[in-house]
Amino acid sequence: MDILFSIVSLLFITRFTDLLNLKLMFYLVKLTMIDIFVYCKTCGKKVKAVVLTKHEKEYDDSISGYRRYGMVKILEHNIGFKTNCSDTSQIKAIVESDSKDDNSVFN
Ligand SMILES: [Zn+2]
Repeated sequence: MDILFSIVSLLFITRFTDLLNLKLMFYLVKLTMIDIFVYCKTCGKKVKAVVLTKHEKEYDDSISGYRRYGMVKILEHNIGFKTNCSDTSQIKAIVESDSKDDNSVFN
């Protein structure tokens, strides 16, 4: 009976640590993902996007500062009550900039 109990609790502990590891990994992945705000080309809303690649920094006179373009993937977002926008495409966007617009989106 004692042995059975130990086996069961051992199994339970292993399962629990597995779950914990999974959660930790998920958290780390989330941490390393950099997300920024861009405007969706389909619905025009300010939406979150994950930065996939970054290009070279470029100087722009019009903002007297630097800007960096990159490829981003738009995350799923909704445009109203229970309505999702279907646009989750990858687009070229400004991923870093010395200038932001009124909605604090890089411009
Ligand atoms: Zn959209």
